[in-house]
Amino acid sequence: MQGVQEQIAMQGWEFTSNIQAAHHCRILVGWNANKVKLQCIHAESQWLTCEAVSLHTKEAITVTFVYGLNSPAERSHLWNYIRNFKPASTNTLWVVLGDFNAALRPSDRQGGDTRWLKHHEEFRESINNAGIFQPPYTGVHLTWDNEASPAWEPDGAPVSKSSPAWELIRNHFPAKDTHLLIWQKEHIPRHAFILWMAAQGRLRTRDRLSTTTAIPSLLCVLCNQETESHDHLYFRCHYTRAVWKTVNGHAGLTWPSMPWNQLIDWAVIAHNHRRNVNSMIARLILAASVYNVWQERNRRIFSHHFQGRDYLASEIIQGPSASGYQPKSDFVKAERGIGYLRGS
Ligand SMILES: [Zn+2]
Repeated sequence: MQGVQEQIAMQGWEFTSNIQAAHHCRILVGWNANKVKLQCIHAESQWLTCEAVSLHTKEAITVTFVYGLNSPAERSHLWNYIRNFKPASTNTLWVVLGDFNAALRPSDRQGGDTRWLKHHEEFRESINNAGIFQPPYTGVHLTWDNEASPAWEPDGAPVSKSSPAWELIRNHFPAKDTHLLIWQKEHIPRHAFILWMAAQGRLRTRDRLSTTTAIPSLLCVLCNQETESHDHLYFRCHYTRAVWKTVNGHAGLTWPSMPWNQLIDWAVIAHNHRRNVNSMIARLILAASVYNVWQERNRRIFSHHFQGRDYLASEIIQGPSASGYQPKSDFVKAERGIGYLRGS
């Protein structure tokens, strides 16, 4: 093991592995100790979960590195772990990455056994239950091949074996400058992440899903009236409009009524004042509303659990302070009536 680490390590790197849990090492994690402090909090044969803290920004994330076992029965332990795992804080971003030895959907693979058996659904069910989702990516769709058949190399191009997903989590933004709007100093990571996805039109709304997967209905589950799209979910939907009106009324804010894309463009310009309290509140409310509407949509689809528009609005107004979130500076504490801005 020491020999392997010496061969791949760059200066200042440290390593941890799941060798204690797996008898032989299946997962080896290396990191630059000059930039990140990383601590393993749980290891099993198929996963290694760590808490990583940036030495520069002091931001913490939880990362689960995965290497799924070969049989569906063995992998069911992995799916159970993903279903039931909870990061130490509800505000910590949790990233799950690696080789799951499974595909989320039939279009994620080529060749081999073409049947889509029931056990294939477990991967998707577990990440849906955990409330996590696949980040957007660019580049080739398939990132691995077993070199068994030239059919795995579309258009004769070599298939990249490195995954771009990690790089996309942060620091890659759409052309319009949504950086401050989304990743402001006081941002709540899970809110910011969903807003970032929604701003790019990359949430897996039913209109997008239907282009690759057969789904039973295209209708928005919040109103059951129109096809679910980003524009519907965040502009046209009666449910969202009622929530949005209540939340902004409570905070004393007004927004123009315009399609989703235009609203983001407008907010980038209108709320780009870093230290202006109104702008800060507007940015936090936008992120909290987009996140909570998406969560409500997911709860209805995956858990058949429905919350009314007034209840959801009150959840947004009450904010994550109810679950222990503390804002980082006193600056935003002196504001009006939005729980997560008060920090108490
Ligand atoms: Zn709707």
